[in-house]
This record gives sequence, structure tokens and C-alpha cells, in this order.
Amino acid sequence: MNSMYFTEEHQLFRQSLQDFLKKEVVPHIEKWEKSGTVERFIWEKFGEMGFFGLAYPEEYGGLNLDLFYTVILLEELQKINSGGFAANIWAHAYLAMTHVNAEGSHDIKEKYLAPSITGEKIGCLCITEPFGGSDVAGMRTTAVKKGDTYVINGSKTFITNGVYSDYLVVAAKTNPEAGNKGISIFIMDRDTPGISATKLDKLGWRASDTAEIAFDNVTIPASNLMGEENKGFPYIMQHFSLERLIMGINAHARAEYALDYAKQYMSERIAFGKTIDRFQALRHKFSDLYTDMTICKEFNYSVAYRLNKGEYVVKEATMSKLKSTKMADDVIYHCLQFLGGYGYMEEYPMARLLRDSRLGPIGGGTSEILREILAKMILDNKDYKPAT
Ligand SMILES: Cc1cc2nc3c(=O)[nH]c(=O)nc-3n(C[C@H](O)[C@H](O)[C@H](O)COP(=O)(O)OP(=O)(O)OC[C@H]3O[C@@H](n4cnc5c(N)ncnc54)[C@H](O)[C@@H]3O)c2cc1C
Repeated sequence: MNSMYFTEEHQLFRQSLQDFLKKEVVPHIEKWEKSGTVERFIWEKFGEMGFFGLAYPEEYGGLNLDLFYTVILLEELQKINSGGFAANIWAHAYLAMTHVNAEGSHDIKEKYLAPSITGEKIGCLCITEPFGGSDVAGMRTTAVKKGDTYVINGSKTFITNGVYSDYLVVAAKTNPEAGNKGISIFIMDRDTPGISATKLDKLGWRASDTAEIAFDNVTIPASNLMGEENKGFPYIMQHFSLERLIMGINAHARAEYALDYAKQYMSERIAFGKTIDRFQALRHKFSDLYTDMTICKEFNYSVAYRLNKGEYVVKEATMSKLKSTKMADDVIYHCLQFLGGYGYMEEYPMARLLRDSRLGPIGGGTSEILREILAKMILDNKDYKPAT
């Protein structure tokens, strides 16, 4: 383990987290992968263990720890091999809760952040729309101010925790003519009249619920606006740094898990009278893959280190997601190959890993969009600034 970034306390945390996941989560994974639902008790257990509060203020019940505790949580969640379960947890803790913590008023934080930390309330973040996800500024959902309320109309899609969460963090247009300068962020309870959700069937992430959500004249108090009106786009962009780094870290962790599994398998599987890890073609391929994974991991740690110090790392986090998710798909593809026919079987981990990993270059900004952002920053010297 890299002691440049991880202290003895971090290691102890990793160990206790591994023990917890093995005992409390792993026995249920197959059931949740089949049902597409994660039972409520595990959210509460995560809350009791303090896992949702790692990065959040003590005032609301959090632990206010450095970002490497989050890195450990993300890595270990990948290594139990259910991208869907991991997504439920990090979409709540780092997509929905990040907005609540950064833009929510004190009252909103008491009402939503504190119970999110204890695991009593689950959140989701609703940005993508059926008409387009990459073009965030082109969203069509509107929020119209009427007296001391806002009325929301429109729809969102592909929302993680979209069916079973208790509250929704929603981006909507408060000034439709103003493009990306007319978006605001709201919070609303699931049971507000006019909200309906439809569960979607999908290739991977099967333990997570992904939903299309409709808003039909949903009326919420004006105080449910988070942050300033029309500042939603910079808020979203600012938090994309963390989201992209999270997806980069998830990618290096699942690739490492695939490599560790394949290494063990290759040391036991015999072909032509020797274990398959003796074949040079496989040894060299494995070495290349291990190198790619390690380079991404080291890069991701360095970006986490800088983000933890408060640097604005939008460029590096974008690179992290772009490279690490491609690397993970490639590593997992080849690790499945190392297992031969067993790689294709559901009793072995590679089939699910392959499915789950494929979302990496799509969710939270596609690779094409990430390249666009990088081209603007590198070739056109465009400078993205944090929201003020
Ligand atoms: C399982 C799952 C979970 C998700 N969870 C959430 C969530 O919790 N919350 C949320 O808000 N969203 C979520 N998403 C949505 C995800 O972020 C979007 O799918 C993603 O941003 C892409 O948007 P899109 O699907 O509308 O694709 P589109 O924007 O329609 O893009 C289609 C294709 O065109 C390409 N393309 C588009 N514009 C350009 C361009 N300018 N240049 C080059 N190529 C371009 C894209 O790269 C892509 O290949 C989730 C998606 C999935 C599948």
C-alpha cells in the first residue's frame, strides 16, 4: 500500500471496512443483483458505521475526514464485485449529498444531510433528461416561481437510486432563455405529489435501481432552492470534478480486483502440463495490464491528494475518468480471456465485472464529452473556474 497517501489509521479503517463488507454485505449481493433492490437495513448499517459521514461536517453527524478515507471506501466497494451496489452507495453519498452539503441551507442540511449520514434517508441526483444528458445546458425541466413556491415540470432519466430514494436533488431551468445561466438546484421529498418513477432494465449495475422520473406540477416551498437561483450549472460543473475522480478511482479498483483474481486463477489452472501463468503470451499481457492499472491508480491518488488540499482539479479529474475507465474495460476484457470459458460463466466474477465496467465511459460524462472538455482546456486555453 502506498504510504505516501495512506497512514496507519487509513489502513485500520480499510481493514475494518473489509471485515464489515465481508460479513454484512457480501452474503446479500447475489440476492440484490437478482432483485435490483438493496434492502433498507444495509443503508442503516452503513449509517451506524459512519461510512456515509466520512467527508461531511461533524455538525451534522459526519466525521470530517480527509479524502483518502473516501478513496478507501470506493476501492473496497469495487472489490466486492457489485458495481450496482457500489453505485447506490456512492450516488447517495457523493452525488446527492455533495450538493446538499455544498449548497443546502442550515435547515436543509438538518432535514436531509443529517439523516443521509445516519442512513435514514437516501438521496439521488437528477440531472440527465430523456432528450439529452451530455448537453446539460439544454435540459428542459422547468421550475417556475409562484409566490413562495416553485412548480416543477419535466422529466429526468437514468437516475441512480431513482426509485427507492427518499429525496431528490433536481436541476431545473428557472430562466429557460438563459441557457446554462438559467439552471437552479432544488431538493424535494419523494412523496411530494406529482413525482413518479419508472424502473429501467439495463446491461449491468443490476443491484442498483435506475429510473426515469416525471415531474407533473410538483409544488415545493421556495426555501427548497439550494444555493442561488440560476447558479446551478457552475455548481454541477464544480462537483463533476469529484464525481469524475470517483469514477476514475472506481475504475482502477475494479481493474485491480480483476487482475488479482486472474493472477490467482492463472497460478492454479493447468494447460499442456503447466499452470497457465507460465505461458509467455499471458505473462506479458498480464504485465502490460498491471502496468496500465498501476499508472492510473498512482495518477488518481495524486489527483485525490490535490483535491483534498482544496485545489481545483477539473482537468486532472477529467483525465482520471477518461483514462481509468478505458483501462478498466480493457483489463477486465483480457482478464475474462485469461479465465477461458469460465470467464464467461456467472459463477465467476468476470462476467458481472465486464457488464458493470461498461458504464464507466458513459455515466457522469461520456468519454467523448471529456475529450471535448480537455481539448478546450488544453488547445483553446479555456479556464474552468470554481463556482463562487
Ligand atoms: C446506469 C446509469 C446510471 C446513471 N446515473 C445517473 C444519475 O444518477 N444522475 C444523472 O443525472 N444521470 C445519470 N446517468 C446519466 C449519464 O450521466 C448519461 O447517460 C450521460 O451523461 C450521457 O448522456 P446521454 O445518455 O443522454 O447520451 P447523449 O448525450 O445522447 O450522447 C449519445 C452519444 O453521443 C455522444 N455525444 C454527445 N454530444 C457529443 C459531442 N458534443 N461531441 C461528441 N460526441 C457527443 C456521446 O458521447 C454519446 O456517445 C446514468 C446513466 C446510466 C446508464
